[in-house]
Amino acid sequence: MTKRNFKERYSRQILFGGIGAEGQERLAAGRVAILGCGATGSAVASLLARAGVGTLRIIDRDYVEASNLQRQSLFDEQDAAESLPKAVAAARNIAAFNSAITVEPRVEDAAPANISQLLEGIQVILDGTDNYETRYLVNDYAVKSGVPWVYAAAVGSYGITMNILPGTNACLACIFPEMPRGMVATCETSGILNTAVNAVASIAATEAMKMLIGGDALKHVRKTLWSFDVWTNDHAEISAATPRPDCRACGRRDFVHLAGEGRPHITMCGRNSVQIHERSRPIDFAEMQQRLQTHGMVRHNEFVLKFWREPYEMTLFPDGRAIIKGTTDIGVARSLYARFVGS
Ligand SMILES: [Zn+2]
Repeated sequence: MTKRNFKERYSRQILFGGIGAEGQERLAAGRVAILGCGATGSAVASLLARAGVGTLRIIDRDYVEASNLQRQSLFDEQDAAESLPKAVAAARNIAAFNSAITVEPRVEDAAPANISQLLEGIQVILDGTDNYETRYLVNDYAVKSGVPWVYAAAVGSYGITMNILPGTNACLACIFPEMPRGMVATCETSGILNTAVNAVASIAATEAMKMLIGGDALKHVRKTLWSFDVWTNDHAEISAATPRPDCRACGRRDFVHLAGEGRPHITMCGRNSVQIHERSRPIDFAEMQQRLQTHGMVRHNEFVLKFWREPYEMTLFPDGRAIIKGTTDIGVARSLYARFVGS
C-alpha cells in the first residue's frame, strides 16, 4: 500500500488524537495473537484487522458450524458448509476487507508443548478461548515471557475482561488463584448474546491498541477487572492495579500450567463433543477416506476430513487431532478413534 493510500485508508483513526500518524504506524508494525477464534476472537480479529494492525496470528482448533453464525461475525454459511477450520476461514474473510495486513492462520490446539512456538514473536495476546485451562496456560506463558495479554470472556448477556501487563499489574492468577472448576457456565449451557460478545471484544481490542501504540497511550490502559451485563446493565470493576506478592504465577514464578500439569490429554469442548489428540503421526486424508468409506459417509477438503457414523460425527485434522461429536463420554470417543483412525 502506498503511503498516500495508507493515510487515506486510516484517516479517521489518524485524526483521533490518541492515535495520530505515529500511532497508526505502530499499529501497522504490531504483531498480535488471537488465541481462539470463536465469538470473541472473531470480533476482536475483525476490529484489529480493520484498524490496521499489521500482523494477526489467529490460532484456533475448531471448524465452522452453522450454530456459530449467530455470533461469530467473521464466518459465513459457505464456511460452515465446507467445515472450514476457523483460523483458515478467518484469514480468508479478513483478506476480503483488508488485504494489506498479514494474517497467519494456525489450526492448532494450544497446549503446554506448543504454546511458546504458537506465540513466538508476538507483542500482545488476545484471549478468544472458551476455557480456563487455556487461559491459565496463557497467563503462565505471558507472565514468564513478559508479554502483555488481554483476558476476555462472554457468556449469556455478560462480559468480563482484564489487562495483564506482567510485572506492572495483577495477573489472572492474582485475582483468581484457583482455576474455576465444576459447573462453569458456558455458551453451550447458558446461551450467549452476540451483543455481549461485541461489547467485551470492543473493550479488549481498544486496550490492545493502546498497548501496541505505547507511550502516552499506556497511561490509559485500564487497571481493573471490568464486567458488564448488557441485559440487566449490572456492572462492576475491581482493582487489578498491583500484583499480589504471594501470587503463584507472577509472585512465586511457579508456572504449573506451562509445565503441563492440570491439563488432561483429552479435552472436553464444553459441548456434546470430545477432542482426542493421541496420535503423533500426520494423517493422509485420501488414504483415510478410502479406509473409512465402507463404514460410513466420509468427505474431506485440504483442511479437515469428516466421517459420519450414526450417531457420531468425527472431524479429523491433518495432525491427527479429532473432534468427536455426539458424545461427552471420553471412553466412547477413544474407542471410536482407536477403531477408525488407529494410533
Ligand atoms: Zn499474579
